[in-house]
Amino acid sequence: MADQLIRATAAKGGIRAVGVITTRLTEEARLRHQLSYLATAALGRTMAAGLLFASSMKRARSRVNIRIKGNGPLGGILVDAGLDGTVRGYVENPNVELAPTPQGKLDVGGAVGQEGYVYVIRDVGYGYPYSSTVELVSGEIGDDLTHYLATSEQTPSALMVGVFVDEKGVSTAGGLLIQVLPKAARDESLVELLESRLASLSGFTSLLRAGKSLQDIFEQLLGDIGLEMMPDVQLVRFHCGCSHEKVLGALKLFGTVELQEMIEQDKGAEATCDFCGNRYQASEADLMQLLAEMQAEG
Ligand code: ZN
Repeated sequence: MADQLIRATAAKGGIRAVGVITTRLTEEARLRHQLSYLATAALGRTMAAGLLFASSMKRARSRVNIRIKGNGPLGGILVDAGLDGTVRGYVENPNVELAPTPQGKLDVGGAVGQEGYVYVIRDVGYGYPYSSTVELVSGEIGDDLTHYLATSEQTPSALMVGVFVDEKGVSTAGGLLIQVLPKAARDESLVELLESRLASLSGFTSLLRAGKSLQDIFEQLLGDIGLEMMPDVQLVRFHCGCSHEKVLGALKLFGTVELQEMIEQDKGAEATCDFCGNRYQASEADLMQLLAEMQAEG
């Protein structure tokens, strides 16, 4: 199945549901960054969540940045996702691998760490972006971002994200976000029903691996409380908007002394985009021009 995002409502618009399949784009991220299994799971879960978070924004150019910084060996995770269905991201230490948990699962919580922060920035394309921070709960990412939505955005939400990866690569990845909007949140029986349904789901990736579609899962959760599927299916993909010019611009951070060294000793430089791993060559002439610009800027 192609990577895609679908939307639905239930309870006369009181419940908003979004589901996303991200198998291919997670595999692309794995290959681009040469991610370990754990790093694939951690980044894949965060990318699925980024697309789900961005899906509720209104303006065409809206984007969400999710940064997770725990005290585990994986280091930071950074994801940038747009309402347009594009997503990119990376982890600080892509090679980390740990022993599986006693349940035989990838120890994402151990890799991310239980202490640290989730930072979310919502940028609608003009004015100041909205940003907010909460502490990590478990480092498993789904829990941490659910906690973020409940405390920071004050929307009762259930977020499930999952990635299945083995020696053949990523075979299943995606996520599900269900939010109870304020007008329905007062209906306690509805909230309880939804909670019990969600608790009975056996994990998002296992449902997909059992051959269920997003539509099937929505039907199972919300079929008898007025489920309405939106007809549009949105394609989602890994995409980075980097360019030779932008990556070169980042070399300015090294300062004039180091640039001078790159020119004299290395006769150029190679720069890599953190988000997508694309490599860009800066020639001696490129670096001389950067240096001239920096000197002109003082
Ligand atoms: Zn890039």
